[in-house]
Amino acid sequence: MSGRELHIDIAIIGGGIAGLWTLNQLRNRGYSAALFEHKALGSDQTIGSQGMIHGGMKYALAGSWGRDAQTLSAMPAVWRQCLAGGGKVDLRGVKVLSEDFFLWSGPGLQARLNSLLASKFLRGHIETVTPQDYPAPLRSADYRGRVYRLADLVVDVPSLVYTLASRQREAVFGIDWERARLLRQGARAALLLGEITVVPQQLLLTAGAGNANLIAALGCEQPAMQRRPLQQVLVRHHYDAPFYGHCMGARPSPRLTVSSHRDRNGRPVWYLGGDLATDAAEEDPAQLIARARRELAVLLPWLELGASEWATLRLDRAEPRQATSLRPERAFVGKLDGVENARAAWPTKLTLSPDLADEVERQLQADNIRPLHRPDLAALGHLPRPPLATPYWDTLFP
Ligand SMILES: Cc1cc2nc3c(=O)[nH]c(=O)nc-3n(C[C@H](O)[C@H](O)[C@H](O)COP(=O)(O)OP(=O)(O)OC[C@H]3O[C@@H](n4cnc5c(N)ncnc54)[C@H](O)[C@@H]3O)c2cc1C
Repeated sequence: MSGRELHIDIAIIGGGIAGLWTLNQLRNRGYSAALFEHKALGSDQTIGSQGMIHGGMKYALAGSWGRDAQTLSAMPAVWRQCLAGGGKVDLRGVKVLSEDFFLWSGPGLQARLNSLLASKFLRGHIETVTPQDYPAPLRSADYRGRVYRLADLVVDVPSLVYTLASRQREAVFGIDWERARLLRQGARAALLLGEITVVPQQLLLTAGAGNANLIAALGCEQPAMQRRPLQQVLVRHHYDAPFYGHCMGARPSPRLTVSSHRDRNGRPVWYLGGDLATDAAEEDPAQLIARARRELAVLLPWLELGASEWATLRLDRAEPRQATSLRPERAFVGKLDGVENARAAWPTKLTLSPDLADEVERQLQADNIRPLHRPDLAALGHLPRPPLATPYWDTLFP
């Protein structure tokens, strides 16, 4: 190793929700932890997410209410506790966009939704909404379906990233891989930053899709990663009422998922996901936009969005590799093969960030990795501070 050594408890690489949440939780527990981000905090999936903190009902509707469902269904309450300042991570100051998330039936599909809702898994988790309480876009005499309220909430992701980063300002650093390098010394990993070598008790990789290269840089093959691509649609318009909901169609997964945001000038943007996005990963953007316009015209024909501008966004969901390439059900934390002090982690959903941080803590304790070093990161003070990622609705429209 060259130059000076800085011994800390945990070095985290990657400042999306996984890294930021875990940094907050571990430092609150007394660990000396530092996070290193190579672009902007919250880049890629986190800033591209719809901000839904969901209890897994959309998966229950799809009939995949697996053995880890309890973890997911507990998450909205865990987040609410953190938002109120009483959880393991302090989310006071994070903007909640909606306390409600709706489930609504598309044309002619109420019977199917009725049978799904009769499922024993859903009892107690879903509440029928009376027409006077329908969200504004469904308040039309021409709407023939039914609306249900889920126990989910929607958070404003830029304010989530800002809050988590600003609480740990002194522990968040930019990293330039032109000058930095992961080092492997026998069975242990360290981080070379020019003149300083950071020697952590534990190296934690939370770089989303970037984990694959970092794992390879340490000469490892496991844990392996999978990418599940999708292409979201954004429409900026003049319709002022917000809308958060899944439209259920003929398939078990949501046909369309809508969340509402505002660009930096306050103009409303609907962010469209669901089958529309997952079926369209490789579709030509112009064709996808035409399809999205048709979807809205079929599902909400009475709605007048005013002059609208459209864009699409292709993103990969990065996750631990599954035997079937399907969606994993829990946050994942796993040791790198052959390195004693390195793990890689993927939350698999924004919602599961608390589960990921708990699992990291559990594994640290199992390895007897306790807070050992003073939380003095002054030796890293010369490193740059990374900016916050800009929401896609502020970069994709002219
Ligand atoms: C379109 C879309 C919508 C979604 N909506 C929801 C939702 O509503 N609710 C929900 O629960 N989940 C949702 N998800 C899933 C959720 O967004 C992700 O599971 C979660 O954000 C992953 O967080 P992460 O921190 O692991 O990765 P990322 O958010 O991708 O963050 C990785 C970070 O690591 C940094 N990085 C990468 N490589 C390096 C490197 N070599 N060195 C240093 N830093 C590096 C990146 O710049 C980035 O800041 C959605 C996902 C997508 C794609």
